[in-house]
Amino acid sequence: MSDEGAAVVAAVQAIAERLEAERSYLTDLDSAIGDADHGGNMARGWSAAAEKVADLDDPDPATVVKTAGKTLLSEVGGASGPLYGGSLVFASQELDGGITADTAVAFAETYLEKVQDRGDARVGDKTMVDALVPAVHTFKKSVETDDLPPVEALAKAVAAAERGVDFTVPIRASKGRASYLGWRSVGHQDPGATSTLYIMEELLDAATE
Ligand code: ADP
Ligand code: MG
Ligand code: MG
Repeated sequence: MSDEGAAVVAAVQAIAERLEAERSYLTDLDSAIGDADHGGNMARGWSAAAEKVADLDDPDPATVVKTAGKTLLSEVGGASGPLYGGSLVFASQELDGGITADTAVAFAETYLEKVQDRGDARVGDKTMVDALVPAVHTFKKSVETDDLPPVEALAKAVAAAERGVDFTVPIRASKGRASYLGWRSVGHQDPGATSTLYIMEELLDAATE
């Protein structure tokens, strides 16, 4: 297997393990402002994705990401399946030439673009977009303007995503199930922003190894 492909397979496995470990916490977050299935959705979907990508024969990074996305699409319904899965499938094409600082930035931007195309959420709507927008912008700026090595840029992006997750707590939800609660969604952390942060933390861990 290509080294890069194998590294991405290992990253998907690490993400699956992390989301399994966070299953009950993510479910608690979703029970406060949703339907208490986000932990199960993420744990089940990513564990199926990890199994699928482990079976691929000598895959390149784009194929691993595309396969993981397709598996999430088929395993996970609701809001998060199409948002995570569809966006991964679409953005995977940016990795066709392998993983470099430039293709990683293109991947992140295309992923965010697809999430926003599909979900129509903006910063402040209390969704995964609140973690993603600052993360992707910070990653791009760190690579392109500040000339940081990709792993350092990713570390900055993770820190930005963490602030984005905190930002979801005091605001009112305007998209997704949580929006049905109106002002009662205030004071609760968004589950999808939180799972996005966990995934990014695992990517950083994988990139650091
Ligand atoms: P469901 O809400 O269908 O039960 P999940 O619980 O798995 O799906 O996922 C909920 C998460 O999905 C939310 O916490 C939020 O981050 C994200 N989400 C919901 N709607 C949107 C949207 N329109 N755009 C972006 N993210 C969204
Ligand atoms: Mg839910
Ligand atoms: Mg649901």
